[in-house]
Amino acid sequence: MEKYILSIDQGTTSSRAILFDKKGEIAATAQEEVSLIYPHEGWVEADPLLIWISVVNVVNECLIKANATWNEIDSIGITNQRETTVVWDKESGRPIYNAIIWQSRQSSEICDDFKDKEELIHNKTGLLINPFFSASKLKFILDKIPGSREKAKKGKLLFGTIDSWLVYRLTNGAVHATDTTNASRTMLYNIFELKWDEELLKLFNIPKEMLPKVLPSVCDYGAASYFTKKVHINAVAGDQHASLFGHTCFEKGECKNTYGTGCFMLMNTGEKPILSNKGLLTTIAWNVDGKINYALEGSVFIGGAVIQWLRDGLKCISTAPEVNDMAALVEDNGGVYFVPAFVGLGTPYWDNDVRGTIFGLTRATTESHICRAALESIAFQSKDVFDVMEKESGIKLQSLQVDGGASNSDYLMQFQSNILQINIEKPCCTESTALGVAYMAGYKSKFFRSLDDIARMRCIAKSFTPKVSKETAVKACKYWETAVKSARTFKLPK
Ligand code: ADP
Repeated sequence: MEKYILSIDQGTTSSRAILFDKKGEIAATAQEEVSLIYPHEGWVEADPLLIWISVVNVVNECLIKANATWNEIDSIGITNQRETTVVWDKESGRPIYNAIIWQSRQSSEICDDFKDKEELIHNKTGLLINPFFSASKLKFILDKIPGSREKAKKGKLLFGTIDSWLVYRLTNGAVHATDTTNASRTMLYNIFELKWDEELLKLFNIPKEMLPKVLPSVCDYGAASYFTKKVHINAVAGDQHASLFGHTCFEKGECKNTYGTGCFMLMNTGEKPILSNKGLLTTIAWNVDGKINYALEGSVFIGGAVIQWLRDGLKCISTAPEVNDMAALVEDNGGVYFVPAFVGLGTPYWDNDVRGTIFGLTRATTESHICRAALESIAFQSKDVFDVMEKESGIKLQSLQVDGGASNSDYLMQFQSNILQINIEKPCCTESTALGVAYMAGYKSKFFRSLDDIARMRCIAKSFTPKVSKETAVKACKYWETAVKSARTFKLPK
């Protein structure tokens, strides 16, 4: 009797396995850290074999914790850090270079060479030229390892994002595939024509022979024969896409924001892709029942990370949750506005040169005001993304679904609701990403009967409604706009 769906959530710093039951509730979890390697300033890599080993470990641990056998597992869903690039030998299954993690800047120079192709790339992939995406990382590996391009042309080397790498390993090398969401982050996949783009492959000098087959997010990827021949991988999706699905944002105009280290906002824009001129990315939300859903995506680089800075840099708090106690000691922000542009600003500014700035300090300013301003900065930056999303999509958003560590701050969530003037909903299950691929895998096998059934399973733990007037909200945002503008004028001489 199948009692569970197994979700594998392979993230940047850890791998997790979670068993979900018929009600979509968590039965067991296991987590293992994955070490990152920093070979040079700005480079971030990881050993793909250690990533695989961590997945094997957490899957085994999770089953043991639940006292479950493979006979009780219905199917598997995989969700993963996106864009991270692996190249391995088809015969031996051994990687030829470390996995280049999405954050890594080591292919910046390669991207600079393609700056004049920005429009072409955007019109095909919905992405902005940036070392985040896989194409320049893959080119970096092929340029670096002698003879690799020739070997790849002969079909002896394979490329994959982490999902492909795990599917390959789980199926004992029988399946080399990725899903449409992960493919849409490689910068090699045409999200309009739904195929690998010959022109882009030529541009980046990538042999087509090494690319995985692109399958729908909900689809039989084959048996996870490394563990058992019985259980199949039924779903694959990139983390942010899986999270949107986990929040059951199935309808056009539904939107979620994840408040992690950075913030990622995705809005379901339905069956038509919308290309943005304001720095939003266009991406495939998922491919289910033969239907493609597109999404707009915007990102804030420093979200919860500003709280980490208060803890580790300024040392005015000793744990992240303490920021809320500190902020509660004062009645308001005391006129303090904090632009935490530690690594530049993301959507909609895409300004790499701006640096963090705190405005409005007086002798009356205390650490509490700064804590409050830091929390508010996460909401203000998310509002900047939210505003362009509404503008570019022409859709007035009704509510926002939230998750991620910093969504545990009630102050932040209430403030966000106030300045957006909409309702905010936090689900009971905070593991939206893992839940998303569990829903997808279970939908494929009829473990969950329909999307309506899935939507009905949704449980809201907390909601926040606006508690200030529109005028008050507009005024606060005006101060923020001025602060961002001023921060952007400050440039240290190079
Ligand atoms: P990631 O998945 O990016 O590692 P998480 O979703 O685990 O991030 O969220 C971690 C972030 O949330 C940290 O930056 C931390 O500062 C912040 N955070 C965690 N708990 C709280 C809290 N109670 N209030 C405010 N921020 C918090």
